[in-house]
Amino acid sequence: MIQKPRGTLDILPGESKKWQFIESACRKVCKKHGFGEIRFPTFEETQLFARGVGDTTDVVQKEMYTFTDRDGTSYTLRPEGTASVARAVIENGLAGGTMPLKLFYIINCFRHERPQAGRYREFYQFGAELFGATSPSADAKLILLASDFLKEIGLKNISLHINSIGCPECRSVYRDALVKYFSQKKEDLCQTCRSRLETNPLRILDCKSPICKGIAADAPKTIDYLCQSCKEHFDGLKERLSEVGIDYTVDCNIVRGLDYYSRTVFEFISEGIGAQSTVCGGGRYDGLVSQIGGPELAGIGFAAGINRLVLSMENGSSFKDEEEGPDLYIAAIGEKASVKANGLCAKLSDLGIVSETDLVGRSLKAQMKYANKIDAAFTLILGDGELQTGRAQLRNMKTGDQFDVSPDDIESIIKIVKREGV
Ligand code: ATP
Ligand code: MG
Repeated sequence: MIQKPRGTLDILPGESKKWQFIESACRKVCKKHGFGEIRFPTFEETQLFARGVGDTTDVVQKEMYTFTDRDGTSYTLRPEGTASVARAVIENGLAGGTMPLKLFYIINCFRHERPQAGRYREFYQFGAELFGATSPSADAKLILLASDFLKEIGLKNISLHINSIGCPECRSVYRDALVKYFSQKKEDLCQTCRSRLETNPLRILDCKSPICKGIAADAPKTIDYLCQSCKEHFDGLKERLSEVGIDYTVDCNIVRGLDYYSRTVFEFISEGIGAQSTVCGGGRYDGLVSQIGGPELAGIGFAAGINRLVLSMENGSSFKDEEEGPDLYIAAIGEKASVKANGLCAKLSDLGIVSETDLVGRSLKAQMKYANKIDAAFTLILGDGELQTGRAQLRNMKTGDQFDVSPDDIESIIKIVKREGV
């Protein structure tokens, strides 16, 4: 038996309702905040991610699905959305347009990770990016979008953690301080962090190993190294978050370890879904667009992991699972009645009434049993007799009330079905 690839999911109709609920929350809040949807390819030239995500990141070093196609070009299944969006912004000339540019996307992403709860090899992200604005107001706007989105889903126990990693100038001073600190503890760091010490020391701060975490707790803090203008930017953001009523914690272990990231970084964390608790992560990336060959264009964005949001919904949300059967089941006995029932179903569905009839050749008794099972609100029985007399019984399955109707009088059928509580 062929099985789905490790770390991927089949999402069946009962479960996919939750996904639809989340996706409609994305669309609703993006509309409210003036973000337009962008769609882009599932795969891109490998170079884009090497440069746009960063050569020294785990994603690029260990997690990408890269393949050479029949023409010998190296492509990679997108591990995230930001690099592709930045590429599309440049390629479509949007970088020269009116700013700010506000975009969102809902995509599947691919990373070759060790599958576990909340961590998959194909997963889904809702992301938003805001280009062409460096002010703290832009950062606050983007965080508000994420916060409104999480509120719309109605998740419990979500907290916002923010940090500033400064600009390339103040960060290089900070980086030196970090290297100095971690070098003294080098022997105790995990294997990966020992090499991070050379390539990407900021990343040690978000290592998941408990020992590295313990060491990182006493490391120098980014916010103590901010230059004056980065400090003002961060203060400005905090002031604006307070003004719009968004609670936050300053958490100096949140980092993005690449040079084109600057200033604001943030995460929304969900308690009670296990180790993979970051449901949304984002930050400012003022150097990214130029890094991949575009003009100087500031940007800030976030990506929320939809799989983890679905897991968080187990602990309470605004989602209501309305298990609903069709409005009407038409039981048909015989070929003629079946033809009639098909026509009636089609007309009713055009008019917004969900109706079903037999597709698998059941007996009348079995059809009625099926109507019960799928929880049809009404049934209508059609046989030769009904076709001859032109009258049939429309039955409310909950109350048992019966109505004598003409199968051709669609308006009367709809009136009864609607009046009786559909
Ligand atoms: P983590 O630290 O959990 O590996 P990350 O820093 O790699 O996360 P980002 O690249 O910031 O994650 O992606 C944004 C969001 O996408 C994450 O906060 C998370 O909710 C989700 N996400 C990332 N990787 C996975 C995965 N393998 N499976 C499911 N969701 C994921
Ligand atoms: Mg990761």
